[in-house]
Amino acid sequence: EAKLQGRNTWQFYSGDIRSQICDHIALRREILEAIEGEQFVVYYQPLVDARTGKVRSIEALVRWDHPQRGMVPPNDFIPLAEQTGQIIGIDRWVLRQACLDTVDINASRPASLRIGVAVNISPVHFRRAGFFLEVQRVLEETGLEPYLLELEVTEGVLMSGADKAIEQLKALRHLGVLVTIDDFGTGFSSLSYLRKLPINKVKLDRSFIQSIDHNRDNAAIVQGVITMAHHLGLQVVAEGVETVAEQEYLIKRGCDLLQGFHFSRPVPLAEFMALPAILTAE
Ligand code: C2E
Ligand code: MG
Ligand code: MG
Ligand code: MG
Repeated sequence: EAKLQGRNTWQFYSGDIRSQICDHIALRREILEAIEGEQFVVYYQPLVDARTGKVRSIEALVRWDHPQRGMVPPNDFIPLAEQTGQIIGIDRWVLRQACLDTVDINASRPASLRIGVAVNISPVHFRRAGFFLEVQRVLEETGLEPYLLELEVTEGVLMSGADKAIEQLKALRHLGVLVTIDDFGTGFSSLSYLRKLPINKVKLDRSFIQSIDHNRDNAAIVQGVITMAHHLGLQVVAEGVETVAEQEYLIKRGCDLLQGFHFSRPVPLAEFMALPAILTAE
């Protein structure tokens, strides 16, 4: 069970290997109960149009509302859920909930102000042959229009089995769904592979956005990615925008969409609905 000792060992408990293995078995069972008992909740964080300052879409971010431990962040259970395959059940539930919520959000908005939703999909899930059929069914069942759904996958999806991933991307494009490469720049892939991919956006990892207004290395990387992505017809999203200086810098450099605590933290649906009008109005 070398896997259990690996870097992805989860973070609630600590202790020797034997108790870690017991902890994993316990967590695995708890995740199963959580899926069945609907203990997961989806929070939403807005993505703001850099030109107009208005919300264009939201990212769905899962939390585990644990009966004893309170609100557990995704980094504490997703790594193990990926090892056990349980991530597939979690992702499915989040995808469906996010589509339902987005239909509700748009119910009172005119067509020109529709808001899209971005859902994170684990590589484990994305690589499965029938994944696009699952997406097609969720769209049919929830009534969300395909162009309002965006799937976020990391570069990792292309690292092993790139051919399969590209087939999946083509099938999704055929459905009319959008795809974003998340955490862009943290993988080891070259920029040129983007040319071959049927995707819509790249989302620059937060580590490049930090202090961009006075960190020359970050500034150079971000400028390079924006220029290249625009040449390829892709939009660029910056995640982790925390200050007005970072915001202004990114706007000046032609970044298309901005996301970060500066605009809003991820919040429950009801709180998103109640965000200041300046963010969501026409
Ligand atoms: P991600 O997709 O890159 O999401 C962005 C993360 O950065 C979120 O953390 C968000 O809360 C955080 N963030 C946003 N703006 C700022 C900021 O201005 N400053 C800082 N310091 N952080 C910011 P969160 O919600 O804890 O999610 C962590 C990761 O867990 C996500 O990273 C994503 O990889 C994964 N995840 C979340 N929900 C799901 C899901 O439903 N399915 C899968 N497979 N993965 C998910
Ligand atoms: Mg994401
Ligand atoms: Mg990200
Ligand atoms: Mg990130």
